[in-house]
Amino acid sequence: MPVLRVALDLPLHRLFDYVSPQATLADVGRRVRVPFGRGEKIGVVLDVVEQGDWPLDQLKAAAEILDDLPPLSEDFLALCRFASTYYQAALGEVVLQALPSGLKRLQPPTRRAGRARSVVRPLPPPVLTAEQAQVIAAVPLQAGYTAHLLFGVTGSGKTEVYLQLIERALALGGQVLLLVPEINLTPQLEERVSARFHDRFVVALHSELAEAARERHWRAAASGEADIVLGTRLAIFAPLPRLALILVDEEHDPSFKQQDGMRYSARDVAVFRAHQRQVPIVLGSATPSLETWSNARHGRYQLLELRQRANPAATLPTVDLVDTRKMKLAEGLSAPLIDAVETRLQRGEQSLIFLNRRGYAPVLACTACGWVSRCQRCAANLVLHLADRRLRCHHCGYECPVPRACPTCGNQDIHPFGRGTQRLEEWVRARFPEARVLRVDRDAVKSRKQWEAMLERIHGGEADILVGTQMLAKGHDFPRLTLVGVLGADSALYAADWRAPERLFAQLMQVAGRAGRAELKGQVLVQTEYPDHPLYAALTRHDYPGFAASQLQEREQAGFPPYAFQAVLRAEAPQMADSLAFLTTAAAMPVVAAHDQVMIFDPVPMRMARLANLERGQLLVESHSRPALQQFLPQWRQAIEQIKAPSRLRWHLEVDPFEF
Ligand code: ADP
Ligand code: ZN
Ligand code: ZN
Repeated sequence: MPVLRVALDLPLHRLFDYVSPQATLADVGRRVRVPFGRGEKIGVVLDVVEQGDWPLDQLKAAAEILDDLPPLSEDFLALCRFASTYYQAALGEVVLQALPSGLKRLQPPTRRAGRARSVVRPLPPPVLTAEQAQVIAAVPLQAGYTAHLLFGVTGSGKTEVYLQLIERALALGGQVLLLVPEINLTPQLEERVSARFHDRFVVALHSELAEAARERHWRAAASGEADIVLGTRLAIFAPLPRLALILVDEEHDPSFKQQDGMRYSARDVAVFRAHQRQVPIVLGSATPSLETWSNARHGRYQLLELRQRANPAATLPTVDLVDTRKMKLAEGLSAPLIDAVETRLQRGEQSLIFLNRRGYAPVLACTACGWVSRCQRCAANLVLHLADRRLRCHHCGYECPVPRACPTCGNQDIHPFGRGTQRLEEWVRARFPEARVLRVDRDAVKSRKQWEAMLERIHGGEADILVGTQMLAKGHDFPRLTLVGVLGADSALYAADWRAPERLFAQLMQVAGRAGRAELKGQVLVQTEYPDHPLYAALTRHDYPGFAASQLQEREQAGFPPYAFQAVLRAEAPQMADSLAFLTTAAAMPVVAAHDQVMIFDPVPMRMARLANLERGQLLVESHSRPALQQFLPQWRQAIEQIKAPSRLRWHLEVDPFEF
């Protein structure tokens, strides 16, 4: 009697067996409806065998093998197996997270078949610059796996390189996967792709699509009908039978890292997938991640460079530092920055003031007794939002009205401390009453629609001064923008998070790249109390390689990635003592002592020790050998699964952790 071995969406590292009289090996990769507990679940058949692990008479029968879709391909399942092994995630969870939710429903709603396609005017491609032509020629499309880092400043024509590579891959009959950080922030890229390939089938895959559209697009990708799949990190798991090329735009972007559920790096999975499918992959960035840069330095990826901006009239902006140590600031703005804004206003040009902190002020405080607005659920302050007079926690979402007086001592004289974009906007309006000021952050722009409307207003010349967060930093051309002022950048220089400088440098390069994209020369003014810091020195020279070299040297000395391989075990519980006790037990397991190439650190509270009423601890594991770490982790995980933990304790393992 045939037995189905089924993957179910459960955090368990095992498959589930069901009997199914008519099943054959041709059913591997099909979805299946099976009884589970008191109800049913949808799973995926991973194998059909004559004899499972259990006696036949103890197995339940599968209810129905679904054949509305062709079976998931062997290479898709192999990709899931890789992710499951590498990230220590349950295979069932990996396989099922890759499917759109409509395909996991017991009662699927009836759907119309349809093609989503917007008709956009085709644009003729520009004549390639010599550099672009060289880069394109260096990516062989029929030579199996090759990996390339496309390193080019903003405006150097990376997107044009992607478009022309896509065109060549399509001409060979292939499908192309283009991964982007956050699709909401890049409507312009989506438009450029659909305009260039107006006669092709282009689909988007991201989490904000309506369920029906996501399923339709996924099916188009999986059936091979879609030519181009433009998606966020989750698209890396879309089946693509004709896959010929993978492109990862802004490969350094933190959003490629999934921070909950299965914690994976879509960029790293993309490299594995390119290798598995024997296709080329191009990772593009003006500020590559140090991991990728180091891979390129060591020849694992081929380094392709675009040194010049594509439009010969557009030069890189000058970056100047404003030493604020001996200056009087007006609401955080220095005199040189104020003068520079004035000049832009007189010339009818746009300015952008960048402050990567939303809200009115990061905290409300009482000067009489020292009370500060703290989140009751987290180790964090409540941020003052004056527009609707609320205090909000940016970590757990808790909010409450602004108190009229100090909740501790009754003092009515409580003050906002520090500055967020709302406060900056208020002050900029007061200082430049004749200017039209537009604030752009996640409070002002909550949906894709609002974002598109906002971009239209900016492009329509409806704003003289933009005040905004990093939302504004990504991939937009604002032709009349000639000045970028940067406030509040210093805090990342000496942060406890050793990745903070890398992120800061990328953000500043990106926001600087907004200035002077067309014929108007751009200027960037960075206010700082550390004008001699090497990060800023590299920034003024537009010197990513210099910055990367010094960072990599520091990381090598400190033994941080990419010079070491890490995993972290985290536990959260209502009491920190329980979390730490669990981690202590995990650290003392015999399997740890048996692996001498793996080093284990002491359990410590996480930097954000309390989140939404749970107290969180972590345990770092490190090795100089990736294989040694990969060999250790499954054994350790199995041992940890045996620990008797308090019922409210949750734990997970993260491989290549990003935040601590
Ligand atoms: P990046 O993706 O590196 O920021 P883009 O591909 O968006 O750069 O190019 C920047 C600008 O230069 C865009 O306006 C684009 O249309 C233009 N551009 C790109 N390649 C060329 C070219 N070969 N000739 C003329 N303009 C180009
Ligand atoms: Zn008080
Ligand atoms: Zn909170």
